[in-house]
Amino acid sequence: MTSLRKVLSIQAGQPTSDGAGVRLTRVFGGPGVEQFDPFLMLDEFGSDKPDDYIAGFPPHPHRGFETVTYMLEGRMRHEDHMGNVGLLQGGGVQWMTAARGIIHSEMPEQEEGVMRGFQLWLNLPGKNKLADASYQDIQPENIPRLTTAQGVDVVVIAGEFNDGQIRQAGAVQRPDTEPQYFDFHIPAGARVSPQLPEGHRALLYVYEGSLEIEGCPQSVSASRLARLGDEGELQISSATGARVLLIAGKPLREPIVQYGPFVMNTREEIEQALRDFRDDRLTA
Ligand code: FE
Repeated sequence: MTSLRKVLSIQAGQPTSDGAGVRLTRVFGGPGVEQFDPFLMLDEFGSDKPDDYIAGFPPHPHRGFETVTYMLEGRMRHEDHMGNVGLLQGGGVQWMTAARGIIHSEMPEQEEGVMRGFQLWLNLPGKNKLADASYQDIQPENIPRLTTAQGVDVVVIAGEFNDGQIRQAGAVQRPDTEPQYFDFHIPAGARVSPQLPEGHRALLYVYEGSLEIEGCPQSVSASRLARLGDEGELQISSATGARVLLIAGKPLREPIVQYGPFVMNTREEIEQALRDFRDDRLTA
């Protein structure tokens, strides 16, 4: 008999603002982030009020990790010091490996309407924190989508979806942390059993409806994150219908020292990042 993945905690996101005053929900991040290793942060943004998003994220630096932006609705323009310009739109993903350093802006390309999506921060191993930065825009038509036998729609952003019947590689594969990133649309009464690598840390974020996790007596309602154990099988279902992100990755088990947009292994490396940024050498 195989065991089920345990639900270790269920938590609600916290309202906050970032950038030049963009209102968002911090699903996790900050103190205690080690328990989400290799992930550092998940933000959800969603509003139809331009005042909540119009200020955007003017030029700012990152070092030591990757940012993954998944847009559900709306349009955001990315520009960075390498000369990349990208338009991120509904259903698209931007995967940015800041590594040694990137300076970029993320600005809404709309003055009204709905802006909705997620930004995930994924840590890099120490050996790659000072590698060259890179960046890819993945348009919606290049992100694999499938429908399971039970009628669950799956957007396979990263890793590999496998429910024992369908296998589908995602748009992005990364070494070391081997991230798995799926967006599920589960109709009422349907279930899905995604297989995950043993030892991967797994998170379920319900952004619409409510979700049942086999073995957990409590259902997980919208805007809540369930943190799962590293081993065992996962079976999820929804009595009412749900939209859910499943995010999993191999823990790095390295020290995490964070100062704002810099995430390194030691205090000294953070001080170096601050000096490099001040001296205009962050990306050099
Ligand atoms: Fe950024």
